[in-house]
Amino acid sequence: MTRRALAVDLGGSHASCAAVDGERVLACEEVGLDGARGLGGALPAIADGLRRAASGAGVAVAECEGVAFGFCGLVDAAAGRVLSTNAKYDDAPSLDLVGWCREALGLRLRLENDARLALLGERQAGAARGASDVVMMTLGTGVGGVAMIGGRLLRGAHHQAGVLGGHLVAEAFGRPCTCGGIGCVEAEASTWALPGIARGWPGFAGSALASREPLDFESLFGCAEAGDAVAVAIRERCLGVWAAGAVAMVHAWDPELLVVGGGVMRRAADVLPAIASRVARHAWTPWGKVRVAEAALGARAALVGALPLLDGA
Ligand SMILES: [Zn+2]
Repeated sequence: MTRRALAVDLGGSHASCAAVDGERVLACEEVGLDGARGLGGALPAIADGLRRAASGAGVAVAECEGVAFGFCGLVDAAAGRVLSTNAKYDDAPSLDLVGWCREALGLRLRLENDARLALLGERQAGAARGASDVVMMTLGTGVGGVAMIGGRLLRGAHHQAGVLGGHLVAEAFGRPCTCGGIGCVEAEASTWALPGIARGWPGFAGSALASREPLDFESLFGCAEAGDAVAVAIRERCLGVWAAGAVAMVHAWDPELLVVGGGVMRRAADVLPAIASRVARHAWTPWGKVRVAEAALGARAALVGALPLLDGA
């Protein structure tokens, strides 16, 4: 009998609620959470979204093996509790999500950091299939990093091992980060940091970037392609920062494979070779070369990671 599960991937302003099997998203409902009061206020809508997803997939909720819940913050997966949030869903640490799920849906729940869940998905049915030592980097609003060693997600004594790859330091005397650090990879090259970086760049006022709104990586890569010198320089700097982060992750966690995902990978043809060539040149890996691959599942990755998480990954 085909195994099924339900999955929630909580984003900044919405939750993706899905029914999945071991490889695919069978049905997905996007639940908007902008009007909700914290995560607690959103739980009834999320439960409804999961019921609709199950119904859309033609699966009874009771046939599902459980709910995998991906949260954008630090979580204790063993205890099923959120530990720390970053300015979003600040009520989450006080919530009993396991108890909510049992009451609302009659199912067990496993909670995990969303980046870890996405890596489980990529390993289950995407770019990391068959690999057991993998680092994944997501380039977007922030920069995510997550690590699997010997087929096990790296979690650590305080549940934060591996998931702070975006807060590895790329510039010791660099820009302040939202985490309290200085010169973190995401403070030096991410969608939230980009406008500040660009506006402080010499010659910005005369650059095509100055009239771009929003000033995001699509604008940056577009202006760079058109030959704008400031955009070219910032693009090269960001590629260098991401590559430095990638090399640091390789040195920290000894992977055979580095998977790169996130919204910036809409420009994969520019980004992936730049990271791969710098990792090949600068990472100290006498055993061989780390393979660098583009994430295959996009936003579906965390949903497809549901069954491996419920299996105890
Ligand atoms: Zn940081």
